[in-house]
This record gives sequence, structure tokens and C-alpha cells, in this order.
Amino acid sequence: VVHVIALIDCNNFFVSCERLFRPDLQGKPVIVLSSNDGCAIARSNEVKDLGVPMGAPAFKYRELFEHHRVQRFSANFELYGDIAKRITNLLRDITPRIEVYSIDESFLDISTLDIADYEQWGRTVRERIWREIGIPVSIGIAPTKTLAKLASNLCKRQDGVLLLDPGSATWQSKLKQSDVGDLWGIGWRLAPKMKAEGVFTAWQFASLRPQRAQQLMGIHGRQMVAELHGTRCFAMSALHKPRKSIMKGRTFGKDTNEPHVIESAIATLAAQAAFRLRSENQYTRKAGLMVETNRHKPGYKRWYREIVFPAPTADSGEIITALHDEFTQIYQQGQRYHRANMFLYDFTTDTQLQPDLFGEIDVPAHDRAHRRMEAIDQINNKFGRNHVHFAAADLSRTWQPKKRLSTPAYTTRWSDIPLARPKV
Ligand SMILES: [Mg+2]
Repeated sequence: VVHVIALIDCNNFFVSCERLFRPDLQGKPVIVLSSNDGCAIARSNEVKDLGVPMGAPAFKYRELFEHHRVQRFSANFELYGDIAKRITNLLRDITPRIEVYSIDESFLDISTLDIADYEQWGRTVRERIWREIGIPVSIGIAPTKTLAKLASNLCKRQDGVLLLDPGSATWQSKLKQSDVGDLWGIGWRLAPKMKAEGVFTAWQFASLRPQRAQQLMGIHGRQMVAELHGTRCFAMSALHKPRKSIMKGRTFGKDTNEPHVIESAIATLAAQAAFRLRSENQYTRKAGLMVETNRHKPGYKRWYREIVFPAPTADSGEIITALHDEFTQIYQQGQRYHRANMFLYDFTTDTQLQPDLFGEIDVPAHDRAHRRMEAIDQINNKFGRNHVHFAAADLSRTWQPKKRLSTPAYTTRWSDIPLARPKV
């Protein structure tokens, strides 16, 4: 298998989050200060261009800030955390093979996705994050983490997507342009030591003999040289920690008592959850369904039902049918339903389904369902999500959140998020 990793890195993340609610600040100098407003923890490009370093103490730069009308914000981590979560969720939609590296950076293992043109793919993802969340990102694509990280840094100020393919002319010229200190794992602390040894560029570092790199910075140095040439040494760390449960929920566009609207929402959520389950090669033993009325209105009510499957399953059809059966039993005509949540939990990785003691499980039927799901996932991986889906999800689309119909104004998209306010 050829390894391909994409690093999705949000540009000036905290600043970009603040600009979501202040679109008038695009292109203007913006800075985010640490919680006690002491020092700079995020800078817009305009502020970087003024020569304000990371961590700059605010009092030292007060005059410069005032002269250039730098908009200052105190950090709003609740907001940043929420936006980060939305980005992670979007990325998980692309592939569950994700390692969330920090609040604004994630590695995606895209080796198994069917991608013809990686840079084109990167531009599509970048465009989607911008359109759906409003945050600009840089995407570095390469066979190793070290190269992907370098690539994302190099394309920050250009078009935001860069493929570094070892051996290519681009790879060589980009390594030659990069300071050794720009490499992940070297940074400003080790850079002076490298330069004292005559290693000034990333290219010179990559050209070190492995033994020499190991002398200079231990086994990590040897691994970095290998990574720069496309040999993977640093694995994706979250890949082997499969989740223990999957929750999907949706608030309806408007409160409803139409069963087919709610069933359609449940089917869509269940199909998404089952897809995620299958992509982690898991089977579920249990599912849960929760529907509720609007908790801000009088007479608030919620209903919860648990389903225990006769045998572990990852079959969307079986999960949807079971949830629909439960819903039919709890549905009440007089209620206005506001939200549905569904859960899958109690997972197993057993691919060998054992016939149960009483022979109630039709093993060949299970195997057929498994192959059917594999076929659906392959088609959807190739042609895009929902290319093939369950008819039950199509009964009605009116349950979808209203935001899809509104203009792309930031504030109306996330009316549930508190507005970020400039500190006065
Ligand atoms: Mg970043």
C-alpha cells in the first residue's frame, strides 16, 4: 500500500475564529491575546507582516497596535474549541482515519481513498471547510507526516494546497527553499546547532547520512531523514484506538409530528453511524434511540429506547429497521418532536459471526448483508457520500436544519454559538 497523509492546518486559527463573526475584519490586522490579555497567542498575516512575534507582550506593542489599528481580542477558548470540533467532524466524514494533533491541526490517512489527483482533492476539501465552516486551512499532502507538515507550512500564503512527492522536482526545490528550522522536530531550539554543523536547509538535512543525523540528534534525526525521503517512521497515533460508541443527532428544521419526517432523519443518522462503524471494522451489539420535544417549551418530554441486536451487526438496513420499529412504538400523535439522537454502542471487532446456540441467526444472510454494505461503501467512497443510500432516508428532507437554505452569513449559521465580542 502506498501511504498518503494529508495535514489539515487551520490558518491563524484563533484569529480566523474571531473573523467568523466579524467578517469586516478580513484583510485587517487582528490579534488574539492570552486570557489575561498579556501576550499574543494568534496573529493575522497583517500582524505578522508588522513584525509582531508570537508571544509578544501586549504592553510593549501598544503604540504599534494603536498606530496600525490592530483589532485585539481576548481568547475565547469556548468558541475555538467548538469550531475545532466542527472541523474534526467534517474531516471524520471524509475518513475516520484521522489523528487530531492539536486544536487546529489534524493528520488524515488518505491512503485508502480513491483519489486521482491529490492537489485537486486538497482544493476540494479546503473549499468545503471554507464554505461549511468558514475557516481557511492549508493542506499538505505527502507520504509521511514530516513532509506533510512541511508542505502545509509552505503553502500557507499561496493557494493552500501542496503535494510533496519524494523524488519530484517540487519536492527537491521546496526542501532547498526551506530553512532547517522549518522542519517539524527541529524548530528554533535545534536550528542553531544544525547550522553550526553546516546544515542550513531542509535539503541539506535530508541529504545527511543516516548515521550522521543520528549523531546530531539521536534516533529521531535518523527517522526524520527517512521521513523526508518518503519512508514512514511516525505512525498515525489515533488509528488503532477505535471508538467505543457512536452518537448522531439532529435538531429538526422545525418541530414536527409527521412520522415520516422523523423516520427519514433517523434513517439518515443511522446510515452515517453505520458507515463510520464499518470504516473502523466494528460491529455493534446495541443501539439507542432518543427523541424529544423542545426543551425550552412547556410540556417537555423525551423518550429513550434501547435495542439489543440478536448478533453483532454493521448492516445499515438492519439498524435502520430496528430503530424505526422502536420509533413506531414510542410515537405519539399529539407531540411536536424537536430532535432525534441515535447511538450505537457495545462494539466488537469480530468479523467471524458465530451461529448462536439456538440457530436463530441466518449466517449466510449476515454474510450477504456484509458484502452488500462493502459494495455501498466502495461506491460512496468513490463517487461521494450519499451517492447510494437507503430509500428510508429520502422519505422527507424537511427535517434538515434550516441553515442549508439561508445565506452564508456567519452569524445565522451558528446562532447557537455565543458571539465573540472584542474586549473593550
Ligand atoms: Mg495552524
